[in-house]
Amino acid sequence: MSNKMGKIFPRKIKQIMNGETPEISLSMFDPNNISTKHNVGDIWDDVHGNKWEQKEGYISKVRKIQVENGDLRCKVCNKLISHKIDKKTYKKRDMCLTCLVKEDTDRKIKGTYLEYEDEVIKKNELAFLVDSSAQIGEYLKNFTGKSEFVTEDGKIEKWNIDDANKIRTFFEDELVSITQRILELQTELK
Ligand SMILES: [Zn+2]
Repeated sequence: MSNKMGKIFPRKIKQIMNGETPEISLSMFDPNNISTKHNVGDIWDDVHGNKWEQKEGYISKVRKIQVENGDLRCKVCNKLISHKIDKKTYKKRDMCLTCLVKEDTDRKIKGTYLEYEDEVIKKNELAFLVDSSAQIGEYLKNFTGKSEFVTEDGKIEKWNIDDANKIRTFFEDELVSITQRILELQTELK
């Protein structure tokens, strides 16, 4: 009984202490990776609305397109800005109305998605921690300080009284921090 706990626990606790989130089957989403990988020729916007192009080995700021006998052109689709409403949106964001609407919609979808992912990850973390704290509670309840335990690879290791105290303290501390994190997550998810 406590052998099973002893086997599962160190690994899980280790994982969570390493910043991993065990038992999350969803593909993890890393918002930091979105804008970092660019191929040569890729063009993207930064948070300030500037356009950048990936060149061979460096990035270059894309100038507003105002070529061909001074005509204004949408910086996204290159459409000639002639219509009144396009002129209005061009003034604000250097693009035609169609592109501006599309960009705002994309941004909104991306924002909603990030929020959603964040919530899913937090819910998974919460479920994991609730499960862990129950297991740790059980483990401590059954913790006799008995001098041997079975490791993950099936080896029997012995511990002395100092080790036993360390192990108990470790799990008690874990339980405290897990409980704090659970409360935090529960508040955030409300
Ligand atoms: Zn456009």
